[in-house]
Amino acid sequence: MRYQGREVDIEGRVRLVMESALTARDRVGVQDFVLLENYNSEAAFIENLRRRFRENLIYTYIGSVLVSVNPYKELEIYSKQQMERYRGVSFYEISPHIYALSDNTYRAMRTERKDQCILISGESGAGKTEASKKILLYYAVTCPTNDHMAILGDRLLQSNPVLEAFGNAKTLRNDNSSRFGKYMDVQFDFRGTPVGGHILNYLLEKSRVVHQNHGERNFHIFYQLLDGGDDDLLITLDLERNPQNYRYLVKGNCPRVSSISDKNNWKVVMKALPVIGFTEEEKLLNIIASVLHLGNTQFGEGEEGDTYITTETQTSNLAKLLGVDGSALREALTHKKLTAKGEEMISPLNYEQAVSARDALAKAVYGRTFTWLVEKINQSLALKVSKDSSVIGLLDIYGFEVLQQNSFEQFCINYCNEKLQQLFIELTLRSEQEEYETEGIAWETVQYFDNKIICDLIEEKHKGIISILDEECLRPGETCDVSFLEKLEDTVGSHPHFITHKLANGKTRRVVSREEFRLLHYAGEVNYNVNGFLDKNNDLLNRNLKEVMCQSDNQILSHCFRREEVIDQKRPEMAATQFKNSLMKLMEILMSKEPSYVRCIKPNDAKQPGRFDEVLVRHQVKYLGLMENLRVRRAGFAYRRRFEAFLQRYKPLCPETWPNWHGRLVDGVSTLVNHLGYKAEEYKLGRSKIFIRFPKTLFTTEDALEYK
Ligand code: ATP
Ligand code: MG
Repeated sequence: MRYQGREVDIEGRVRLVMESALTARDRVGVQDFVLLENYNSEAAFIENLRRRFRENLIYTYIGSVLVSVNPYKELEIYSKQQMERYRGVSFYEISPHIYALSDNTYRAMRTERKDQCILISGESGAGKTEASKKILLYYAVTCPTNDHMAILGDRLLQSNPVLEAFGNAKTLRNDNSSRFGKYMDVQFDFRGTPVGGHILNYLLEKSRVVHQNHGERNFHIFYQLLDGGDDDLLITLDLERNPQNYRYLVKGNCPRVSSISDKNNWKVVMKALPVIGFTEEEKLLNIIASVLHLGNTQFGEGEEGDTYITTETQTSNLAKLLGVDGSALREALTHKKLTAKGEEMISPLNYEQAVSARDALAKAVYGRTFTWLVEKINQSLALKVSKDSSVIGLLDIYGFEVLQQNSFEQFCINYCNEKLQQLFIELTLRSEQEEYETEGIAWETVQYFDNKIICDLIEEKHKGIISILDEECLRPGETCDVSFLEKLEDTVGSHPHFITHKLANGKTRRVVSREEFRLLHYAGEVNYNVNGFLDKNNDLLNRNLKEVMCQSDNQILSHCFRREEVIDQKRPEMAATQFKNSLMKLMEILMSKEPSYVRCIKPNDAKQPGRFDEVLVRHQVKYLGLMENLRVRRAGFAYRRRFEAFLQRYKPLCPETWPNWHGRLVDGVSTLVNHLGYKAEEYKLGRSKIFIRFPKTLFTTEDALEYK
C-alpha cells in the first residue's frame, strides 16, 4: 500500500501513523493540560501554550476550565458552521473552543436544571469581553427561538455596542478597554429558549470623564458623537467636530485610534438604541454634549478669593443642554451652600474648589446616566417571572491591574480580583472534593495559597482598609490622604501583606514612597498612591449642584438626580463600601450557581498577532492560579469520564463489549479496561464515572483507537 507516496507494509504503516501522530502532538501540544507528562513544570505548561498559539490553537483546557490566548487577529473559527460542530458534542471529543464551553454550560443547565455561571477573567486586553460576546452570540444563534424571542436575542446582542460606547475607552493596554464590571444573566425557559436578561454593572471608572493619562482616551461615545454626528446635530448641540477643542478630551493627547472607526461605531450605536427600546435619544445626546461643555467651563479669580465663570456664553448653552436654570447653575458652580444651626448660608468657592465642583458634576452626570442606561437596557430585556426558567450568568469584570501609578480605582479593581480568586479556590477545590466524595473515592488534599488573609485585610469590619478609609472620610477636622496613610500604618502596619516606606527598625524602605502603601496581592505586589483616595471615596457633589440638577427638565437627569437625595441629609454609603457591598452580593449570586471558567491570557503588550512574550505569559499563568488549578485537577486523577461516555468511545477496542453492552455499565467498563490491560493503580471506578490516574493511560487508549 502507499503512504505519503511510499510503499509500506501494514506494520510500517502503523509505525508511520504513530510517528506522525507523535509529531503532531509535539507540534500542537496537548489540548488539555492534564495530559501534560510534566504537570508540575511551569516551563512545560508555557511551552504547551506557545506551541498551540503558534498553530492558532488559542484554546486549551485544564479539565473543564478553558484557557484562551488572545490571537490579536481574526481567526476563522467562529462561523455558524463551527457553532454547529460544537452543538451537543461532548467536551473531550472535539478540539477546545469557547463554543464547547458555551454548549456544555447550556446543556448542564438544561439537563441538571441548575443555574450556571461563566466567569471570565484575565488582565486588561486578554480577551474577556470578546469571549463574552462570543458566548452570547452562540446562544443567540443556536438556541431554539420564535419570532418574539428573536427580538430578545437581538436586544441582548445590541446592548453590547451601546454599553461599550459609554463604558469602554482606549487605554494603553487595550484599545477597547471595559472601564466597568459587568455581570449579565441570560434567562432560558423550559424549552431552552432565551426569554430574558439582566445586567448588573460595577464601578464605572468615572475619573476618566475629566482626566486621562497620556496615550489614553475618554469614553468612546464622545469621539463617536463628534466624528459621526451629522452637521445639524452638532450645530444643535453647539459642538465643533475637532475633539482637540474639548478640555475633557485632550488630556491624553490621543484623539484618534487606528483600530477604531468612531464614525462607523456611531452608526452602530444609533441603530442599536431603538432596538433596545430607546426613545430618549435627544435627551441622551444633550447630556453627552453637556459634559463636553462643562469641561470647557473656565473660572477666574476675584480679588476676595472668590471665583467667577469666564466662559459666559458657553454656560448659557450648557444650562440649556442640561435643562436647568442658567443663573442657578452659575451660582452652584461657584458657591457652596452650608447649613449651620438650621440656617442656610452661601459661601463662595475658591478657584480649586470651583474646578473640583465642576469636575464632580461632570462625573456625576456621566456616571448616573450610565447607570440609567443599564436600567433602560434591563427594562428592554426584562426577566420573566417563571418557575421553570434557569439562567446562565456571564461575568466580564476588570482583571488585576498594575499601572505606573495606582490609585483608588486600581485598589477597587484588585480587591475585586482577590474576591474572585477566593471564589475560584473555594469552588474548584470544593467541587473537586465533592466529586471524589460522591463517587466514593479517597481524596488527598492539595496545598494552595488561600488569599482570604488579603481579603480580610481589605474588607474586614472596623479593621480593614476600607473601614479605615471610610472613618477617615467621616472624621471631623483636618483629614487628608496622608492622615489616612498614617491611620493605615497604625492599624494594619504589621499585617504581613501590607507595607509602607517605614521599616520596623525606624529606617526607610526605598521601594515604597511616602505617599504610598503596598499590598502583597495574591497576584503580585502593587503600590497604591494615596493621593485622591479620600475624595474618590467621598464622591461628593455639592448640595446646591444637586438641587439644580434635580430640577432639570431633561427627564433622564431628573430621574438620575432625585429630590429625595437633597432632602435626605443622611450620608449615602461611600464609594469603596458601596463597591464592597455590591461585590458581596455578586459573590452570593455566583455561589448559588454552577461555575465554569474562562481564563484569558494576553500574549504581548504590543497588541500584535503572532507574538508570544514568555515573561508576560508566565506572570499571568502565575496569578491566574493555573498551575495550582492543574495540580488540584491532577492530584487525584487526571481524567474522569462517565461510564456511558467511556464505553461509547472505547468499546470498539473490545469486541466483547461490541457492538452493545447489555449488562451494568460498571461491569461493561470493567470488562473493557481489563481487555485494555489497565493496571489496578492506573484507574478507579466510582459510582458513575471512571477515574484515570495518569494521562499516559488515556493516551495509549486514544492512540489505539486512532490506529485501529
Ligand atoms: P479589558 O479588561 O481592558 O476590558 P478585555 O479582556 O475585555 O480587556 P478585549 O476587549 O476582549 O479585552 O480584547 C482586546 C482586543 O483583543 C479586542 O479588541 C480584539 O482586538 C482582540 N481579541 C480578543 N479576543 C480575540 C479573539 N478571540 N479573536 C480575535 N481578536 C481578539
Ligand atoms: Mg473588556
